[in-house]
Amino acid sequence: MSTVYLGVGSNQGDRLVFLRAAVECLEEEDGVTVVATSSVYRSEPVGLTDQPEFLNAVVVVDSTLSPRGLLELARRIEDSNGRRRRQRWGPRTLDVDILLIDGVEVDEPDLTVPHPGLTERRFVLEPMLEVDPDVSLPDGTPLREVLDGIGGGQAVWMEGGL
Ligand code: AMP
Repeated sequence: MSTVYLGVGSNQGDRLVFLRAAVECLEEEDGVTVVATSSVYRSEPVGLTDQPEFLNAVVVVDSTLSPRGLLELARRIEDSNGRRRRQRWGPRTLDVDILLIDGVEVDEPDLTVPHPGLTERRFVLEPMLEVDPDVSLPDGTPLREVLDGIGGGQAVWMEGGL
């Protein structure tokens, strides 16, 4: 059993409904138990900046799935919520990322864990630290230190619950 931090994001359609749908899909999945959800954060888009603002949140699950099983589940949840893969960094109804699996590192062509954007993205670090103030990278670096090192960074605003 491992503790897994998943990032969910949406910037198309009824964004909050898509985030909630992701949590519901996770709750229904065998081998996955949702243990915490963060508040919802609003953030400016990364990469392609001429697109609507994102809503982001973090969902913590206990899971017996392998990292690859988790990736397949994330893709399945995206696909069943209207995700279309057209443009890198482009608009999406639902994005599900594997941010961190406790103590696990994966470096494969289509799967990198911890997620490569994790240490640069305030909209991911803030909700992770909200649900677990002691969360660390597999090498032991506390994410609190990573967030403190980011400085001004990009704007995020906390909203209500998920
Ligand atoms: P994106 O369009 O940004 O959601 O990227 C999706 C692709 O990134 C997927 O097809 C995955 O194969 C790949 N990927 C690599 N590492 C991860 C990860 N930690 N979580 C989710 N997707 C990942």
